Amino acid sequence: MNREQRIPALAVSRGIGIGQIVFLRGENIRSVRFDLNSEETEAELLRFKAALDKSILRLHEIASNDDPNEPVSGIFGVHLLILESSFAEKIQTFIHEERVNAEWAIRMISDHYIKQQESVSDISFRDKYLDIKDVANHLLKELNGSHAADPTVSGSVIVARDLSPSTIIEIAKKKPVAIITELGGWTSHSSILAREFDLPMVSGVRNLEQFVSAGDCVIVDGVNGEIILNPSDKTVAEFEALGKPDKHSGIHISHNNEAAKTNDATHFLIRANIDKPESYETAKNMGAQGIGLYRSESLLRQSGPIPTEDQQFEAYCQIADAVGEHGVKIRTFDVGVERFGSDAHWVERNPSLGLRAIRLSLADPTHFRIQIRSLLRAAFGRNIDIVLPMISGVGEITRSKAIIEEERFDLIKSGIDIGKPKLGAMIETPSAVLTAFDIATQVDFLCLGTNDLVQYLLAVDRDNDAVADWYQTLHPAVIRAIASVFDAAQKADIPVSVCGEMAGSPFYVPVLLGLGAREFSMNTTSIPQVLQLLTGISLPDSIALVTNIQSLLTAEEIEGCLREYYLKNWSALFPLDFLNSRFR
Ligand code: PEP
Ligand code: MG
Repeated sequence: MNREQRIPALAVSRGIGIGQIVFLRGENIRSVRFDLNSEETEAELLRFKAALDKSILRLHEIASNDDPNEPVSGIFGVHLLILESSFAEKIQTFIHEERVNAEWAIRMISDHYIKQQESVSDISFRDKYLDIKDVANHLLKELNGSHAADPTVSGSVIVARDLSPSTIIEIAKKKPVAIITELGGWTSHSSILAREFDLPMVSGVRNLEQFVSAGDCVIVDGVNGEIILNPSDKTVAEFEALGKPDKHSGIHISHNNEAAKTNDATHFLIRANIDKPESYETAKNMGAQGIGLYRSESLLRQSGPIPTEDQQFEAYCQIADAVGEHGVKIRTFDVGVERFGSDAHWVERNPSLGLRAIRLSLADPTHFRIQIRSLLRAAFGRNIDIVLPMISGVGEITRSKAIIEEERFDLIKSGIDIGKPKLGAMIETPSAVLTAFDIATQVDFLCLGTNDLVQYLLAVDRDNDAVADWYQTLHPAVIRAIASVFDAAQKADIPVSVCGEMAGSPFYVPVLLGLGAREFSMNTTSIPQVLQLLTGISLPDSIALVTNIQSLLTAEEIEGCLREYYLKNWSALFPLDFLNSRFR
């Protein structure tokens, strides 16, 4: 019998899973070339067309999943967009011109796209090649009739190199106990989805296929970041005794939407990061007062072609009507140039530093103007604020305001009713931090995007597990940057809403409170634990805690100091086992 072996991993979704290994088949379906005569080629084109239609139908079904409790992702909209774009046409042309089987054509065309994208130095571009790989696999599965469920997934531990978003949604329905991947960071699509599905997941485990076999027993420890191969009966019993870590254990789910207070009566606001109107009801019942971040690019994914002014107007009205008086902060498109159909083949060398977000909106304001018009119209009689993403300085605010003014003037001239949305700036680049006061004098509020702020401040790719140790939310530079943003906003007398993942993690929330945060916007699943924590702690204690950590020199020291304080003073306010995890 094989010996127990422990392998460190990156914990990306909390929880523990014990089961037998299932290697994910179908992610890399092999294709061989068959040469066809002209008659066979015609039949092959029909066969491909049928598979294409079935794939589109299947994706439409998944994308229009209307259960608000199911994590639905706009990712499938991206897949539909790929299927309905020139990608499918190119495959058809290849079958026709080369007279080959559909599988071979799919492989040739998708390999071409994937190679183009893999050669890009920025690893965050990996997500895009995963999407193409995923779409190719949809087609191959339809061609081979192998789209049926794999019954062995239930109760097993899935092992895969990369996991595409659609695969994770498909396998989550079949109830595996955990997932292990080679690649992926805390913020990669699949990790986010695993957290939403409450599926324990670790990444960064290389070449597992070389030294384990399907059916081997493994424990996935998504709390401490470890996998245990061939665990002894004793180890299994120890982990089983731990039970399923319950994020909400001991947490009272609030149905009270009145202003929440810390135990020294400091008011704070909890908002939700939501893109779907039907999801707001749940968030509201948990204590959310409005939507602090609506990522409008979710409309681009879901609608295939870029939604028109009227379609966007409808979507913004729907979300604002669902939220009502507490309002919604709608962030303008935070996407790269490749997301707009006309530039589908644009390849950015370094996408996260490229032509995206506000830069794209200003470089070619065509889509921005349409979005602004629909937002101004939807804001008539509704509580809608506009947030500008990836601001790097005052110049972009000035130029954006000029465009907003022009569109406002034009709409008024045409006799169209419009509202007066407040304007906010995302603070997520180092230059925005350094000029935060200047920016704050030009806008009505700031949104602190800590996901990107950590990435840009520390020059570390947020999607790359290989540099996960350098993605340090508690780095002294991050703490100082956040402190200076709150100072700037206070001097300019405007509010700051924290809407990055930091606002939804109890480990960081007392730090944010002590640094000056009063508005926290997060995923719905995080609301109960953050609400419970904030109502149980006091502002003076949080300020004292922050004063202590501000003299420390490393993220590790800060983490240690916080953990010690939490364990001593507030351990009952954290989810069980939460303080055993690593937080940097
Ligand atoms: C952020 O950067 O913190 C943020 C909230 O936006 P996103 O995660 O969409 O980049
Ligand atoms: Mg961001």
